[in-house]
Amino acid sequence: MNSDFSVFDDPIILDKEISDIYKFASHLKNTELPKYQIKMGSFFLQGREGITKPIQYSDESFQLLKGYHNYTFPIHQGEVELSLQLYENTNCHYRINCFGRFNNKSGQLFSINLTKEKDAKGSIFLVQKIKFSDRLKGNTKATKAFRQMKQQVFSELLYKLGFDITETNDLLLGIYDTKSETFLNTTSEKFISDFLMISLLKGHFMGNKGYQLEILPTFNLNPLWLSSDASSDVFPEKIQKRQGSRSIPLSLRFKVLERDRCCKLCGRSPKDGITLHIDHIVPYSLGGLTILENLQALCQECNIGKSNKSLTKY
Ligand SMILES: [Zn+2]
Repeated sequence: MNSDFSVFDDPIILDKEISDIYKFASHLKNTELPKYQIKMGSFFLQGREGITKPIQYSDESFQLLKGYHNYTFPIHQGEVELSLQLYENTNCHYRINCFGRFNNKSGQLFSINLTKEKDAKGSIFLVQKIKFSDRLKGNTKATKAFRQMKQQVFSELLYKLGFDITETNDLLLGIYDTKSETFLNTTSEKFISDFLMISLLKGHFMGNKGYQLEILPTFNLNPLWLSSDASSDVFPEKIQKRQGSRSIPLSLRFKVLERDRCCKLCGRSPKDGITLHIDHIVPYSLGGLTILENLQALCQECNIGKSNKSLTKY
């Protein structure tokens, strides 16, 4: 075999899209989770590297993070093992998955899509709609309401914890610029920590992963929703659809971050340990438009501080 031709035998190297994914994967491989801790504000969970045995969900030989980012986190009931896996889901559609194992029970906790926008110079957006797939026997309406309620409660929790969640419950965890090989809105260490933390929290909310975190309330199914005559007025207010949309397209988010690079209020950048969110300068609720000129990058603290101020002011 002539080794000079091996490059051309491998279609992966010829495809720009895929080589960007490889670049991103190698960036993650070179990232270490600081002190094996995952953090949420001042709260942290102390873990250690490695898991007892591989968590395998399909015969994917194409796992770009194989051997990297496997951790064990002790919780009060035992130990949760987490494994990050990056592979092609379907036709050129990549995803990072977090699989978990607790008491020999294993399953997927959370996954996030890797998407690209035509307009964003090869950047990879790590964005995912928060959703649940609970099934309630024989009641599609109650099932739908239960899923929506979980989705809403979990999304609001993530929002309050400072994550970038849109009105339509899309979580934006990272924007990776393949040119500068850096995240634009966060650091790679924080991205890994956030992803693991969200996966662990999601497992708690899913309720069927065998563990519950003591810092969160237990999520119990209200038997009322299982009764067949459940009408919409018994569903919590939270699941009622919000009016309108202020969601900011991904390519516009990219442009704001590329322009601002740091928080417009306090001047800190992701290097200082903050994550950047996109904020409407004139609030959407006051008629502010979703255009580049009315958008700015703010760190999560300034963003939450600003929205609290807006609430009392108006
Ligand atoms: Zn700030």
